[in-house]
Amino acid sequence: MTRRQKKRLLALSGGLTMAVCVGMLFGTVYAQTLEQEQQEEAAVQELVLPDVLEEETAQDTENTTEKQGTEEEEEHLPEDWNLILVNSTHPIPEDYQVELKNIGSGHQIDARAYDDFRAMIQAAKSEGVYIYVTSSYRDLDKQTDLYNKKVESYVTQGYSYENAKKQAGQVVAVPGTSEHHLGLALDLVSSEYRRLDEKQENTKGFKWLKEHSWEYGFILRYPNGETDITGIIYEPWHFRYVGLEAAEEITKAGLTLEEYVGAKPVSEGLAQMEKQESAVKSTY
Ligand SMILES: [Zn+2]
Repeated sequence: MTRRQKKRLLALSGGLTMAVCVGMLFGTVYAQTLEQEQQEEAAVQELVLPDVLEEETAQDTENTTEKQGTEEEEEHLPEDWNLILVNSTHPIPEDYQVELKNIGSGHQIDARAYDDFRAMIQAAKSEGVYIYVTSSYRDLDKQTDLYNKKVESYVTQGYSYENAKKQAGQVVAVPGTSEHHLGLALDLVSSEYRRLDEKQENTKGFKWLKEHSWEYGFILRYPNGETDITGIIYEPWHFRYVGLEAAEEITKAGLTLEEYVGAKPVSEGLAQMEKQESAVKSTY
């Protein structure tokens, strides 16, 4: 071995030793960090756990069912105007405001859905299909007045406000739970058969709408066999504007609006509300 070779070997082995040392050092540091992190995590858990337990016991003494209820009810629904969900478990917001546009025969629709609605009716007409509107926007104030008067009458009869509300709700539809209050729902019938019953599905109008309404932003809102989810029977006449993109996605995937926006099925929500009510009753 020449001197130069020896030097090289020495340098090489030195480098290797360095590398190993550095590696070990890093390994140790890494292991320490890991350990530290684990320890910190454990510490955090130790810190958090008693708090949660304390909170839970505090809640327990207050009202267990109420806590469960709010936790289960947590839904993150989209805020887009065209995707707003209104059903028996999701009443329309009290301050809901909408700019309406006349569509003839005393009917009105949300102005933002007007152009697509007109285009849809025109397109059907051009194919010899005549579609008529039998129900559209319904005034929420009117229904609220009716309902409130009913509540008042029960209160004057000696009912507590809560009980009066319950009684009134059985006689007058609870305001705000109909999608027609939005101005985005339409009941549509075909020229040859104008009744709102299941036979509507055999009409030219319905067949055309089932195939094309999504192209104009409308969906069949209460499809057959989805009552558990929508809370409403099959209605082959009730169409809802959700916008072009959502209508296409909903129709092609065969979804309900509830499923599309990630809301709980109405039947589930109602059962939960009943459970809560009976739980409240039992604490009296
Ligand atoms: Zn309707």
